[in-house]
Amino acid sequence: MFESLTGNDRVKEVLKRMLSSGRLPGALLFVGEEGIGKKLFALEVARALNCRTPIDNQGCGSCPACKRIVHLNYPTSSEPKDWIPIIWTDHPDAGMVVAPLRQLRVDQMRQIETEANFRPMEGKARVFIIDEAEKLNDPSANALLKVLEEPPSTSHLILITSRPAMLLPTILSRCQTIRFSPLTPAEIESYLTSNKLADLSSARLRARAAGGSISRALSGDLDTFTAQRRAMLVVLEALVVTNNVAQLLRSSEQLNEAQYKDEFEERLDVMETLIRDAWMLSLGSKREQLVNEDLYKDLEPISRRIDPAKAAAWILEIEDMREQLIVNINRKAATDALFVTMSSGEIPVKRFSVK
Ligand SMILES: [Zn+2]
Repeated sequence: MFESLTGNDRVKEVLKRMLSSGRLPGALLFVGEEGIGKKLFALEVARALNCRTPIDNQGCGSCPACKRIVHLNYPTSSEPKDWIPIIWTDHPDAGMVVAPLRQLRVDQMRQIETEANFRPMEGKARVFIIDEAEKLNDPSANALLKVLEEPPSTSHLILITSRPAMLLPTILSRCQTIRFSPLTPAEIESYLTSNKLADLSSARLRARAAGGSISRALSGDLDTFTAQRRAMLVVLEALVVTNNVAQLLRSSEQLNEAQYKDEFEERLDVMETLIRDAWMLSLGSKREQLVNEDLYKDLEPISRRIDPAKAAAWILEIEDMREQLIVNINRKAATDALFVTMSSGEIPVKRFSVK
C-alpha cells in the first residue's frame, strides 16, 4: 500500500489514480532529491501490478508476490561486471538496473529491451527500474529509446533521477514525469521513530539536519549539525538583536577556517532555515511549523525584532552569494561583504531587479 510509504502524498494520489484507471504509462520518470524514497515508490508500483490479493488496486503488502518484490538481490561483490546484469527482485517480473561505474551501459538497456518483450512470468506486468537515469550516455540512451518508443503493454519502465536536466530531451519526452518533494522534518522524524532507527530526541535533531532526505537523516553527524546551528544562531543574533558588526566579522572568519571548508555551504543552508524560522514566527506562525522547532526559545526573541522585509532580502543575498561560489570568488571577502551588507539595515533593491 502506498500509505505505508513516507511523505509525498500528492505522488501517492497520482499513482493510485493511474493504477485504478488502468492507465499506468509505459514509461515513468521519478524526479526528486536523493534519499526520499523514489525507489520504494517504484517497487510499490510493481507490487500493485503483481499483487495476488490487491486492495484498492494497490499491493496488499503481505501476499508472497508483494513480499518478494521488495527484496532486491544486489551483487555481493563490487566488481563492475557483476553490476551489469539486471538486478532482479525475488519476483521474476520486477528488476532494476544500476550503473556499474559512472555510466549506464548499452548492454544493460538491451537486456531491458529483451526482457520487456517477454510476457510476465508470474504476475500481470513486468516492471523495470532504471536507477540514476542521469547516468545514461548517448549510446545507452539511444538503446533505451527503442523500448521507450514502443513499450509492450505488459511492461513498465520507471526511470529514477535526482538530476533530470542531464537527460536527453528525447528520453524526457517519452516519459511521464512525476515530481517528488523533499520530506518535511515531521515526516522524517516519524519515519525514524516508527522504524526504531533513532530515539525520540535524536530523531528530532536528525530530521532537522536532513534537508528533506531520509538517507541524509541516517548518515548525518549530529554533533556537526548542532555546532553549525549554534554558530549560525550567533550570526542571526548579531544581525537582529545586538547589531554587533565585530561579532559578524568574527563569525565570517570562523566560517572560513580551513576545518570548516567543506561545511561552508551547509552552514549557509542552516542560516537560511534559521532566518526563515524567525521570519515565520514574526508573521504569526506556530512553533510546530518551524524547521528548527527545538530552538524556539532562541528564535522567539529574534522573531520579535526581525524585519520581515529584511529577512526576505537576506535570503536573496545568501542565494546570490551561493551562485557566486560556482565561480571562483574569494570566499572570505564575500562572506565579510555578505554579513556587512546584511547588517547595514538597507534592503538591497538591486536584487529584485532583472539582471
Ligand atoms: Zn500482495
